[in-house]
Amino acid sequence: MSNNPTPITVAYGDGIGPEIMDATLRIIQAAGANIAPEIIEIGEKVYLRGNSAGIEPEAWESLRRTKVFLKAPITTPQGGGFKSLNVTTRKMLGLFANIRPCAAYTPYVDSKHPKMDVVIIRENEEDLYAGIEHQQTPEVVQCLKLISVPGTEKIIRYAFEYARQYGRKKVTCFTKDNIMKQTDGLFHKIFDEIAAEYPDLENEHWIVDIGAAKLADTPEQFDVVVMPNLYGDILSDVAAQIAGSVGLAGSANIGAEVAMFEAIHGSAPRRAGQNLANPSGLLLGAVQMLVHIGQPEVAQKVHNAWLRTLEDGIHTYDIFKEAVSKSKVGTREFADAVIERLGQTPSQLKPADYSKAKEAIQVKLKEKPEQKMATIGVDVFLHHNNRNADALGQAIEGIQTKHLHLSMITNRGVKVYPNGLPETFCTDHWRCRFKSEPQAEVNYEEILNLLTQINQAGFQIIKTENLCTIDGVPAFSAGQGA
Ligand code: NAD
Repeated sequence: MSNNPTPITVAYGDGIGPEIMDATLRIIQAAGANIAPEIIEIGEKVYLRGNSAGIEPEAWESLRRTKVFLKAPITTPQGGGFKSLNVTTRKMLGLFANIRPCAAYTPYVDSKHPKMDVVIIRENEEDLYAGIEHQQTPEVVQCLKLISVPGTEKIIRYAFEYARQYGRKKVTCFTKDNIMKQTDGLFHKIFDEIAAEYPDLENEHWIVDIGAAKLADTPEQFDVVVMPNLYGDILSDVAAQIAGSVGLAGSANIGAEVAMFEAIHGSAPRRAGQNLANPSGLLLGAVQMLVHIGQPEVAQKVHNAWLRTLEDGIHTYDIFKEAVSKSKVGTREFADAVIERLGQTPSQLKPADYSKAKEAIQVKLKEKPEQKMATIGVDVFLHHNNRNADALGQAIEGIQTKHLHLSMITNRGVKVYPNGLPETFCTDHWRCRFKSEPQAEVNYEEILNLLTQINQAGFQIIKTENLCTIDGVPAFSAGQGA
């Protein structure tokens, strides 16, 4: 460890935030953490001063300078107009990986899954969280799901590197690629490609619905689990809760430059200022931070003293149980008890071991050969009020260009023309697929020509999507029932 303290940006947050941050900093500094905290203000007060992001420009400067953020929970004021500080911070600072270890601490903390020890690694920037939503017609609203090659490669490489560094045995991937063959299909494909580079680690893929059911039922079968943003958001809370309590879980948000560490719970305003809150979630976030800044021996000391404190039955109100607990303590007394046990290890629970985690995980993207992309058609989306698919099909069939001809019409993805079923319900949102058959490359002039004809025929175009091949392979989904 270098002698210069590592600057870190610290936010005390709202509600129980200041109490649990105070406890956390006291414990890690008593353990010898070599840090120089810079305090910034975020959250409720900043929002209420009229800053809709909840963070001031000077705070960004501190974060970009220290590149390490230890953050207590904040209160998002009720009412519209306030943007989620977490989503903003993750995206502005490129924090692509969200890491949530979820372990059981039975018999000291109740859990139905005493052997559970899972790490959920959630992609943090893409998927439906790109926040690109549009009302397209009076009846239909759209949210764009974006999955990128570099975004997926980063998170999956991170998961395998994490598993190696932390002595884990298996990496599991959850997707829904039986339905979303392009987006989730890409995530799964890249998972399989990268898994082959880590023969020392087991790998497996589950469709997310049955995977989630198994995770809730037999979490001890899982080790590291990596998944796209939405599934990860939902399942990391499920995993933390079934491990024992969301109040015990810490979380890391990792980017190429900056990283943010926090508890997964919120600011619990009703418990604020009463010396009641459990500081464990934030403390375990800080343990991940210490590993990240190259102080794994301090991380290990803190984690083991904390496990020993749980074993000794010194518990805050949220995990206190007459049968196993010895004394019910407040936030400050809990911190004192952890500090007293620095240097001790647990006697029953598995001790923490960060000896392999020497430095922050760096993910390097692989150079990819350039791919040839060719446009071979276009999906034209229309707003059209008449629910009769055949009438629309017949009206639009005659519109064509040299290469582009109508191949089908779908409504909410289901083929309704030609040869649709009368039972299929149709909204006012139609997709008309025009393809070059036999497959030939078309230029944008030709697409514009087609669109002009459709417009002149009196149809309302609401958007278009090009149909492409990548290296000759069609890169778009077929219509359902087509
Ligand atoms: P919450 O997690 O703050 O609290 C839910 C309940 O869990 C509390 O009433 C309390 O009984 C218990 N609890 C939570 N943390 C605890 C702890 N450390 N020790 C003991 N008990 C604890 O969730 P909420 O009530 O839905 O949200 C309160 C505020 O927190 C909201 O403004 C919300 O927007 C915000 N929030 C912030 C973050 C964040 O900053 N990362 C995350 C979630 C929620």
